Amino acid sequence: MTTTQHTDELVLKGIPASPGIAIGPALLFEKHKPVIHEKNIEVGEVESEIARLRQAVNRSTKELSKIHEFANQKLGEHEAKIFEAQLMILEDFVLFDSIEKRIRSERKNVEYIIHDEIEKYHRVMVSSTDEYTRERALDVEDLRNRIIRNLNEQRLISRLEGSPIVVAQSLAAADALILSRNAVLGYLTEIGGVTSHMALLARALTIPAVVGLRNVSSMVHNGETIIIDGYGGAVIIAPKDETIRRFEEKRDRYRIFEEKLHGLRDLPAETLDGRRVDLSVNVELTEELEFVKLQGADGVGLYRSETLLLGGEVFPSEEEQYQQYRLLADTMYPKGVIIRTFDIGGDKMMAHMVRENNPFLGWRGIRVMLDRPELFLEQMRAILRASARKNVSIMFPMISSIKEVRKAKQLLEDAKGQLKTRAIPYDENIKVGVMVEVPAAAVITEDLAREVSFLSIGTNDLIQYLLAVDRGNDIVSPLYQEFHPAVVRFLRRIIERGKSSKVWVGMCGEMAGDPLATILLLGLGLDEFSVVPHVLPEIKKIIRSVKYRDAKKIAKQVLDMQTEDEIKKYLSALMKEKMPDVLTGD
Ligand code: PEP
Ligand code: MG
Repeated sequence: MTTTQHTDELVLKGIPASPGIAIGPALLFEKHKPVIHEKNIEVGEVESEIARLRQAVNRSTKELSKIHEFANQKLGEHEAKIFEAQLMILEDFVLFDSIEKRIRSERKNVEYIIHDEIEKYHRVMVSSTDEYTRERALDVEDLRNRIIRNLNEQRLISRLEGSPIVVAQSLAAADALILSRNAVLGYLTEIGGVTSHMALLARALTIPAVVGLRNVSSMVHNGETIIIDGYGGAVIIAPKDETIRRFEEKRDRYRIFEEKLHGLRDLPAETLDGRRVDLSVNVELTEELEFVKLQGADGVGLYRSETLLLGGEVFPSEEEQYQQYRLLADTMYPKGVIIRTFDIGGDKMMAHMVRENNPFLGWRGIRVMLDRPELFLEQMRAILRASARKNVSIMFPMISSIKEVRKAKQLLEDAKGQLKTRAIPYDENIKVGVMVEVPAAAVITEDLAREVSFLSIGTNDLIQYLLAVDRGNDIVSPLYQEFHPAVVRFLRRIIERGKSSKVWVGMCGEMAGDPLATILLLGLGLDEFSVVPHVLPEIKKIIRSVKYRDAKKIAKQVLDMQTEDEIKKYLSALMKEKMPDVLTGD
């Protein structure tokens, strides 16, 4: 093994597929990819070629049966089912009959015919528009390679040295399982989604995994230290000592905490005295959804649709958008999904957008979309089409006046009319909400509430606009204060006025996922918390540990305080006393 080191730490972002943090040496796992040569065979060789085929199928069946048995013992019947589909292909008489027939009639070597026949299945699966089917293609490919390896009487590589983080272009379910017999710390792959069998097995085996990080195997050297964060998807190559320490701490804290969280997933986010709130998640990539479901979310409180645009030169078509929104709605069904219309501008520029001196105060969010009604209508038609099963709501960002809301709603009606003439189904009563993230919107909360069904507070922007502190500027970051008394009092105002105007009030800014803020927000009467997926269990635990009655008293105390320090100190002490095992901070 050659050990070359990067000198600088490299931070990358993949898709979290199995929770946990692993720190250790990378092991580049190169899967044996057979090279197939087409060869003609003599008539006299046909029978021995067929005998080879049968032997290889027998060996493969034996191998897979062992894997199946091992999965059964280690993970139970349900997870072991993954391998049944592969075993069923091996028992497919029609397939192997046609392979034998082709060997006889075409007189080609068995490797070539096997490859060709199974490739037919594989191609159809890989090009499927359905993510689930595409993921299954990896298993079919694995089966084909297994048979070919057995034809050549090669042995399976399953022994690994030491305790590595396995880095591979892709891993089949069987690889994930077999390799786990070694002391594997984690899996990192270039290909694969959260719904892949490999990801599913990693979760069942409680091995951290990050997937979908293109080209990562060409960036990592064998033996080099890496960190993978299966909660957030971060991957750090050649981490500095300080980074390692930080992640070790995070790993240990989460490990202890997760043991305590066990069993919380299917319980409601409800206080001890029966106040139930919605605990939803913020999602940027549909790939995250499987993880979201694992965490037991009540729905998606914010889907940042603009991630469909980033880096692109052109807007995706109505059809392309519809496919994404539908995938989101269908995956979460019957739970609800709030799709926020494109929030471009600010820090979320598209390549061809105009340059502005003050982008955060410029052409952003709803302002862009109202100036580009054709794009807006296209997006709203796509959202409406995805709403046919009635679990989708629509939300407008960066609202600062009633006029904008009315105009956006008018365009939504136009989009409905267009779909009606095309006889396309949609939810006629789709719920409409707005983000409260500009102070002006907060001031006119009651007026907004008359126009919509819900309000969602975007603290990320609200704080920067209220305190005049750029959310992305390091120099002023100490001034960006979630617990500034002005912020807390402003939140109280929005929540109270929204609720007395009979709409529900949620929060999808980062503050909703800050454990230090949970009791305060509960006490202020927030109806919905929409948080990044990996903090969800923690927030749920806090909500389930307090009485609403007490939370209200705590909020009342906080509202009287005059500095951020005072508020934070008070809340930290409270958490330490009441919930010493809860994680606060990263
Ligand atoms: C917010 O501003 O709080 C918010 C959730 O929106 P974004 O972070 O996407 O601007
Ligand atoms: Mg915002």
